[in-house]
Amino acid sequence: MRRTTFLSGLATAALLASAATVPTAAAAAPGVSGDAFTRAVAQLKAHSGAGLVADGQTFTLRNVVTDPDGAEHVRLNRYSDGLPVLGGDVVVHLGKGSTWHGASQSLAAAPQRAPKAKLSKAAAGRAALAASTATGRVVAGAQLVHDADDTGTTLAYEVVVAGVYADGTPSELHVVVDASTGAVRDKWEGVVAEGTGNTYHSGSVPLGSVLSGGTYQLTDTARGGAKTYDLNGGTSGTGALVTSTSNVFGDGTLGNRQTTAADAAYGAATTWDYFKNTHGRNGIRNDGVAAYSRVHYGTKYVNAFWSDSCFCMTYGDGDLSQGWEPLTSLDIAGHEMTHGITSNTAGLRYSGEAGGLNEATSDIFGTLVEFHANNPKDPGDYLIGIEVKTNGVPLRYMDKPSKDGRSVDCWSSSVGRLDVHYSSGVGNHFFYLLAVGSGSSSYGNSPTCDGSTVTGIGNAKAGAIWYRALTRYMTSRTNYAGARTATLSAAADLYGAGSVEYNTVAAAWSAVNVK
Ligand SMILES: [Zn+2]
Repeated sequence: MRRTTFLSGLATAALLASAATVPTAAAAAPGVSGDAFTRAVAQLKAHSGAGLVADGQTFTLRNVVTDPDGAEHVRLNRYSDGLPVLGGDVVVHLGKGSTWHGASQSLAAAPQRAPKAKLSKAAAGRAALAASTATGRVVAGAQLVHDADDTGTTLAYEVVVAGVYADGTPSELHVVVDASTGAVRDKWEGVVAEGTGNTYHSGSVPLGSVLSGGTYQLTDTARGGAKTYDLNGGTSGTGALVTSTSNVFGDGTLGNRQTTAADAAYGAATTWDYFKNTHGRNGIRNDGVAAYSRVHYGTKYVNAFWSDSCFCMTYGDGDLSQGWEPLTSLDIAGHEMTHGITSNTAGLRYSGEAGGLNEATSDIFGTLVEFHANNPKDPGDYLIGIEVKTNGVPLRYMDKPSKDGRSVDCWSSSVGRLDVHYSSGVGNHFFYLLAVGSGSSSYGNSPTCDGSTVTGIGNAKAGAIWYRALTRYMTSRTNYAGARTATLSAAADLYGAGSVEYNTVAAAWSAVNVK
């Protein structure tokens, strides 16, 4: 493999989006131990008296995380009478020798059997189509599921409606339709784009490439074989793999179409390195395989998005006349790829409080990717997307989320009804308090909801706690109260119950009104 340098910068950015679909009926992840699965299910069933398993339920393996001391965290999908149970996912914690260390799930008790229902699949499809605002919408799939929450279990269809939004963003809307009444119970986007902007650069950076047939391909074999493609204005497929005869990609100006490709490749590499070096994670699925990136999507497309279905990242060029540069900034790249990681770990549903936590997770790790890069052209900050906007106004603020005019600083019982990009404010504010602390600093000025004072523990510890909570303890319907519990468990594992770090997690949640 050769390495090359692209000169200069570019802008990019926007904020992005992404998406996380709730895994249903997923096959077991490759490369994990079937033994762990068998042992976890045996332990779970042995403890069914604790309300963890009901009659007629089976499980498949989603993934296993093993700690250095040998403890295993085995994430399982649940089925009832052969149908997937939405919200029924569970993580079994095993100590050395497969001893029982409890389980984490979103629900207070095991979901029960749902009564039969009679709505036809076609009727459910019609109800789902009516719930989408995309154009060209078609039913791309529908399956019967058990939709579970703390109030009970309902037989439903999970319908996926494909289409395209007015700004060119593709849509894969998941709609849960009650199989008795035809009512829409919930819906969430599988491809979410948020917005935005432009920005700039990361200067001259090394990129992995491969010499093939006399030209250098923008393929990073050191990081899972990550490839970068030029869609050349297209909106489907992969377009053309970016190549260069000189092994130099881009020139730092938008007049050279490889400049944004270099930004995208750098964002993918930096995000890969952050998760590998900091958390030991080997790619988005932790299987060593890279997602690919696509640039020059559509025309003046002001957004970027992650899609689970293509396992790829896509960037628009933005629209300079509207103040948006290409959406390829580091924090956007990190934000988007984190949606892929969330989808492959906790699977936080992209609606309600779980959706806010999903967005906060992407803002948190997008920010930490930016800090990790330590690039003088784009120093770390807690301002989301500022790099990509010509007016210098970020899309979101972590120190005081309400500064954007729409996000919330403090939890309340109505938070789950907000758009997920605004309910994320509670999680972002928590993280800022945990890492930096309350009051004024060089990074911002963060209030607390109860007038308390919080002393931060730094990005490294705060990030380790959030990552461990995401990968070991959160599940598809974790809410803010559950996130408090999950992060306290993570802090206890890493630093000890009652440690300064543990107590700061508690204090930071209390300071955002999650008590
Ligand atoms: Zn997002």
